[in-house]
Amino acid sequence: MSRIAVFGGTFDPPHRGHLAIAGAIVRQRMADEVWLMVSPENPFKQGRRITPEWMRVEMAERAVGSLPEEVRSRVRVSDFEARLPKPTYTVTTLRALRKAYPDDEFVLVIGEDNLRSFAGWRGPEEILHDYGVIVYPREEGVSARPGSGKKDGPDPSAPEEGEDTLSKTPSGCVILKGVSMVDVSSTALREAFADGRVPDTALIPAAVSGYIISHALYRRGIHSALS
Ligand code: ATP
Repeated sequence: MSRIAVFGGTFDPPHRGHLAIAGAIVRQRMADEVWLMVSPENPFKQGRRITPEWMRVEMAERAVGSLPEEVRSRVRVSDFEARLPKPTYTVTTLRALRKAYPDDEFVLVIGEDNLRSFAGWRGPEEILHDYGVIVYPREEGVSARPGSGKKDGPDPSAPEEGEDTLSKTPSGCVILKGVSMVDVSSTALREAFADGRVPDTALIPAAVSGYIISHALYRRGIHSALS
């Protein structure tokens, strides 16, 4: 039996912030493996075209390839959720994972920013009780936007930004400590590429930047033609 940490994201593109979380989970042995779960189209990100799934999977694989060997062998890219009937919700993905891999154990990874809206997701109790959640802190100002990136949606009764979310962590959550924060977001990276800038490799691995440039991703006027 393996304990698998499921870290979902759009990964459009994947970056060092994502890799830092996966690396910390593996290094601290909070799970045997981390699966970067590439999301299907997210209704909460409807404001823009999302890069096709298969390209986000390829970018995530390149990102993982840039990790040191001892971490790389424990981080995988998965398109499991993208292959499920839509719409998918975190809890339905976890149920499907458990059914597909009955010998393994799954735990969900979310950011402090998403914890603020967690109570408004589908099946929060089931997620906490049956799977468990690893929460990683997001520092104020470090690319954290409350509720960003989660299709389960914001909860209007969630604490305001700036309130101490981690001190109110529900049972079933464990907090990931010792992650070095990387001040980067996929949005900022897409803007950089759109402006013709190549971001520093401290923010995004060179293999991912190379892929983006060679496929002309995020270029103004070109990106939408790919979707
Ligand atoms: P976007 O800018 O397009 O909203 P993102 O950078 O937040 O994207 P996602 O693919 O949505 O990237 O990220 C999945 C999860 O990764 C998010 O829920 C978020 O909590 C986390 N994350 C994003 N950026 C960072 C970062 N710099 N450090 C740690 N975690 C991050």
